[in-house]
Amino acid sequence: MTPNITETERQMIIHMAAGATPEQTLRVVERIQRDYGLRCDTIVSETTVIGVKGIASVVDEDRISELPGVDRVIRITEKFKDASRSFHHEDTVIEVGGVRIGGGHLTVFGGPCAIETESQALDSARMSLEAGVDVLRAFVDKSRTSPYDYRGLELGRGLEIAAAMKADTGLPIVSELIDLRHLDAFLKAGVDIIQVGARSAQYSPLLEELSRLEVPVVLKHGFGNDMSEWLCSAAYIMSGLDREGRSVGHGNQNVILCYRGIKSFESATRFGADISMIPLVRSKSHLPLLADPSHSSGDSKLVERVAYGFIAAGAQGFEFDIHSNPAEALCDGKQAVGREAGRIISNSRAIHAMLAGVGIETGASVAVAAK
Ligand code: PEP
Ligand code: MN
Repeated sequence: MTPNITETERQMIIHMAAGATPEQTLRVVERIQRDYGLRCDTIVSETTVIGVKGIASVVDEDRISELPGVDRVIRITEKFKDASRSFHHEDTVIEVGGVRIGGGHLTVFGGPCAIETESQALDSARMSLEAGVDVLRAFVDKSRTSPYDYRGLELGRGLEIAAAMKADTGLPIVSELIDLRHLDAFLKAGVDIIQVGARSAQYSPLLEELSRLEVPVVLKHGFGNDMSEWLCSAAYIMSGLDREGRSVGHGNQNVILCYRGIKSFESATRFGADISMIPLVRSKSHLPLLADPSHSSGDSKLVERVAYGFIAAGAQGFEFDIHSNPAEALCDGKQAVGREAGRIISNSRAIHAMLAGVGIETGASVAVAAK
């Protein structure tokens, strides 16, 4: 990382009200120092302005605004500092088992929504390999819309099959981690990329634990989160902070974003995917951005066009459900594609190449164009 703003520069300004007393100013400064361990400088002219230096992401501006004498709190740098392009201009590129994710690369993640049986998993894995995926979905544990729905096999058996999918295809595998107690078993089984599902995107203990590691993480967009909340979760994994906001490590810089739409009033599609989020997030963050045409549309008949749309908008790849027999799937069969996966991937690569061919940049300058 090459941040272009140092930790000692002001990252937040607290504007005191006209008539605020020196004691009130002192109290604010003490609170910032005591609660967040940050340094302040104070400029007194007609009104008083307090500059907060250091990692101001940890400051809860609502608490500070409530203090007597405070007029307003202004963030100079985004709260999601580590994930922000203001601090890191170049696209981050992450490499896993020879596969590159981010920058000008188009990377496709695909495979069955969940492991159901050994033969279903291996057939779907082979179909995905043949279709041309770069990273294979090997999901042993599932967070579902309803807890009554299929949630995967017993963990040990699921991970054995996940490892067999990896060995059989030679592809790196991605798998969703729901329960922190399973982390070691996931890593021992050879899971290459850990997915944080939409339902866990704000689960701080999980984000904190992943920030201690280097294993790449796919962070889905929580379907009740706005963009800033999503990027804050990403930045938190990268920050290496503990629950008290103290720096206890370097953080995990290998975060991949995956957009999948939010809950909307429209029930004709599964989730509301706003295509303008793609160039916007590219402009705001340097992290690789994938999108998920399966979970956003919820319908295999829509997946193909939605995938092309995401790529045209600047996504650096996509993740989708591929099943050897979608009609029999225990999980999300309606949105899974079968043999057509190969066509979708090869057309996607052609669209990506065509964008570059006509001078529409697919790397960092997508972001510049979106500004
Ligand atoms: C998934 O990718 O299988 C999944 C459950 O997605 P999401 O967390 O976005 O709902
Ligand atoms: Mn699914």
